[in-house]
Amino acid sequence: METLYDVAIVGAGASGLICALECARGGKKTILLEKDTLPARKILVSGNGRCNLTNRHVSPACYHADPKLIESALSHFSFEDCWKYFENLGVLLTEQEQGRVFPATGKATAVADALKVALKEAGAELSTGQEVTHIKHAKPNFILTTKQGLNVHAKNVVLACGSCAYPQVTGTNSGYDLAKMLGHTLIPPLPVLSGLCLKETALARLSGIKCQARTTACTTPPEQAEGELIFTNYGINGPAALNISQAVSRALAKGPVPVEINFFPQLQNPLDFLKARLNTLGQRKPKDFFAGILHESIANLLIDFVGLHKQIPVQQQPMQRAFQTLVAWPVTVTAMRPWKEAMVAAGGVKTREINYNTFESLVCPGVFITGELLDVDGKSGGLNLHFAWASGFTAAQALKGK
Ligand SMILES: Cc1cc2nc3c(=O)[nH]c(=O)nc-3n(C[C@H](O)[C@H](O)[C@H](O)COP(=O)(O)OP(=O)(O)OC[C@H]3O[C@@H](n4cnc5c(N)ncnc54)[C@H](O)[C@@H]3O)c2cc1C
Repeated sequence: METLYDVAIVGAGASGLICALECARGGKKTILLEKDTLPARKILVSGNGRCNLTNRHVSPACYHADPKLIESALSHFSFEDCWKYFENLGVLLTEQEQGRVFPATGKATAVADALKVALKEAGAELSTGQEVTHIKHAKPNFILTTKQGLNVHAKNVVLACGSCAYPQVTGTNSGYDLAKMLGHTLIPPLPVLSGLCLKETALARLSGIKCQARTTACTTPPEQAEGELIFTNYGINGPAALNISQAVSRALAKGPVPVEINFFPQLQNPLDFLKARLNTLGQRKPKDFFAGILHESIANLLIDFVGLHKQIPVQQQPMQRAFQTLVAWPVTVTAMRPWKEAMVAAGGVKTREINYNTFESLVCPGVFITGELLDVDGKSGGLNLHFAWASGFTAAQALKGK
């Protein structure tokens, strides 16, 4: 006779693993189906292999999502809950700049291994190399069929398939297809947390240079980000680019997006500062005037860009345009980098179609949808993993009560 599982979870990524662990700990007969030969592959590549698993400053404001959904997820699994949860799993954690939390070993394997060990101890079944391609609601139960020919019967299903971002490491459309099969609506996915391609090819001269900057995407409403900015041969990357990428990616549907770069994010009044510097160091030639406050290559580009005379002291030249450019250097984003460079997908299953307290589908009760498969995307810094844990954990609490 076929085994009837209480819960069948599709996808052994962050949200599927925590959900399976909690369901099994709650005494539910649980199976976790994973298409890849290994579980937790995106966890392993996250944070450059260091896994930035949560952030002290997690709040609804960090996400592009209905704030009520995030509030609900955080009320079930807050920053403190997350910290305690992983410590109880045996992972020593460390908090770094801007509230980012990593395993103290500096290795994502610490997080993935802890989840795998606990999953085994709790008695959940993990079946890898099984890609679910069909889910049939044979009321009251569900039958999940895999590409490899397995049929799994379950009372409840959790779709924790992640998004189509980063296809070289498990990213797939498969979860979207399954959700649509069950009657859900899809908000078209867009690549986010990826580099931004710029029209201004002259900036490729700065390729490889890193600096601190504040970026402003001139979208409605405008979106700002501050932090490290990395110039590349195609445009810009780094946190100051990634954290405006959500607004930019959405706005690109209507055409190129203007962005301004402020090279003095730490100063309240950079224009006053530059004017004061002009009074004290005005006898210097442009390159020497900017030495000490600006990377040499950025200064050289600025000098060419605004047409300053290289051999004439700055006090004998009109400097207003140069100063203005440094606090709002205009660039134009023409495209996002391709999916294989996007860490996250914006868009996904419409969140209005799930119960915010349980993550159960309102369209197909008995089905739960968690993690990045939903139309939720967070800024960089541990927020996307936090949502994956929080939603998987919350769904498991509801499943335990069933
Ligand atoms: C390079 C990179 C770095 C990142 N760094 C960070 C970071 O430091 N901090 C952070 O917060 N976020 C980071 N993220 C984002 C974060 O990894 C994801 O948001 C998170 O993993 C989403 O969790 P999930 O459980 O929803 O999906 P995933 O972790 O993607 O897991 C989904 C799983 O489902 C499986 N699957 C899909 N379809 C099927 C199917 N039909 N049948 C069976 N199995 C299926 C997939 O193979 C996959 O294993 C990063 C992402 C990338 C790509």
